[in-house]
Amino acid sequence: MDLLSLPAPTPLQRLVNAATERAEVQLYIKRDDLIHPTVSGNKWRKLKYNLLDAQASGKGTVLTFGGAYSNHLYATAAAGNALGLKTIGIVRGLELEGKENDTLQFCREQGMQLHFVSREEYRRRHSEEYLEEITARLGNPYLIPEGGTTGHALKGVAEMVVEIKEQLGAMPDFVATAAGTGGTAAGILSAGANVLAFPALKGGDFLKEDIRRLLNECKQPGNLTLLTDYHFGGYAKWNSELLAFMQDFRAEFDVQLEQVYTAKMFYGLFDLLKKRYFKAGTKIVAVHTGGLQGLIKA
Ligand SMILES: *Cc1c(COP(=O)(O)O)cnc(C)c1O
Repeated sequence: MDLLSLPAPTPLQRLVNAATERAEVQLYIKRDDLIHPTVSGNKWRKLKYNLLDAQASGKGTVLTFGGAYSNHLYATAAAGNALGLKTIGIVRGLELEGKENDTLQFCREQGMQLHFVSREEYRRRHSEEYLEEITARLGNPYLIPEGGTTGHALKGVAEMVVEIKEQLGAMPDFVATAAGTGGTAAGILSAGANVLAFPALKGGDFLKEDIRRLLNECKQPGNLTLLTDYHFGGYAKWNSELLAFMQDFRAEFDVQLEQVYTAKMFYGLFDLLKKRYFKAGTKIVAVHTGGLQGLIKA
């Protein structure tokens, strides 16, 4: 089957344990981690309409941006390969050249051309002047910004909210998601749902403005709540407490999380349950945004 007309809807499962019972909250998990083994979770949702547009553009090559551990680069490389599109990845950090980790090796195996740039150059990734320069240099490819976060991404993510609403029979009180660029949170908001966003990086307050900008043309977005205390020291940082939480979560619910995004969100959610943050009867759907290829082998 064509990668972009893959299975919908993904399962919605109820999570019940002592903590949800005590808090009298209905908690569900949206299993977007099951979408695809390599183009998983929110990356598939965000890439779908970007890649359809890329195909329609006739350009044949897609250029995008990411860090050394970027699930977005990983997913774009795999999806491009499956769809017969060439891919180019601009990677943050000149020092990585020749020292490629599993993510970057996978990208290469999928046929992605990697260009390493300095952190200074990478910082210009949203500048129009820079984008003109780099696309001219690399043969005028179709551009997808970092994280795949565009209006096309919002449309793809909004489809997930439609699934949730149908599966639940109503809109939940909140949809919870981990946040990196905020594209997924913005997509959920654009579908009219209230979002609990858990930034995976430190100082995640900047996301408020980024998400507001992404929702620029959206008529009636839901309300955004940012929970910025669950970053565990910053992006791609974690500790033994988080890893123990992941193990407990798997033992209890038979669902694997990963340490960069989804474990931080669920840790935060269960902490909020414990603190009686939610009114009794609140319905929450937490999105498993995938990313399991980045699971540490502990
Ligand atoms: C990329 C990623 C996110 C962050 O998504 P944004 O739309 O950039 O906020 C969350 N979870 C996982 C598993 C991811 O790979």
